[in-house]
Amino acid sequence: MRIAVVTVGDELLAGDTVNTNASWLCERLTARGARVERVTTVPDRVADIARVVNEYRAEYDAVVVTGGLGPTHDDLTMAGVAAAVGRELVQHEEALQWLTEQGGYVSEELADGTTHLPARARMLPNEEGVAPGAVVEGIYVLPGVPAEMQAMFKLVEDEFDGEETFTETVHAAEPESKLLDRIAGVQEAFDVTVGSYPGEHVRLKLTATDEAELRDAAAWLSARVELVETEE
Ligand code: ATP
Ligand code: MG
Repeated sequence: MRIAVVTVGDELLAGDTVNTNASWLCERLTARGARVERVTTVPDRVADIARVVNEYRAEYDAVVVTGGLGPTHDDLTMAGVAAAVGRELVQHEEALQWLTEQGGYVSEELADGTTHLPARARMLPNEEGVAPGAVVEGIYVLPGVPAEMQAMFKLVEDEFDGEETFTETVHAAEPESKLLDRIAGVQEAFDVTVGSYPGEHVRLKLTATDEAELRDAAAWLSARVELVETEE
């Protein structure tokens, strides 16, 4: 399953907030075997949200959107998603019912727009906050507050899947440019992909769908590169 993640918020683009939601979602989706192929951050603007979501829903099996829910003036995500699918934003009876019956809110006290979702969307209750999420045409709309987003993702995580993959990392104490032959070699000899991530040393991350194949590939590579000495 191929997925695009869209995070919404001026504060992300300004660098005021670190986009931990994107990395959290990428990690969880990848762990389930789904393949995240895009992460895009857009400002709090209906047209930008609608354009990106519309493009991605045509291209990917699912789009996960976070941030900008709720009824305040800068919360425009539901309007953007509704525009992307050509639906109106309407009062969602089930959302209102959930908030008044389970959430403990009084209908009159809820800010205008709190329970407005794209027409005929599936409502996702917000167990950690107020603003409900929604699923419409393969677009999953989740809150921005990390605890709320994570709790809501749990309600739908079973809907994201793919072939399970396994990973192992080999820490190499050689410059990346010197490792190229062995990186090519392990990919030729085994059914694995290799990511090479330089830092203090080079992390060679092997990924495979077969656990035994992965183990053999990691052993092959470990025997052929100078390994970082671990302090144990
Ligand atoms: P609320 O209903 O509380 O307004 P919301 O769903 O509208 O929530 P935002 O207004 O976009 O969410 O963001 C609320 C807060 O959540 C931000 O101030 C920020 O602290 C955090 N947040 C939002 N997006 C992200 C993100 N991508 N990564 C990490 N934190 C985020
Ligand atoms: Mg908000």
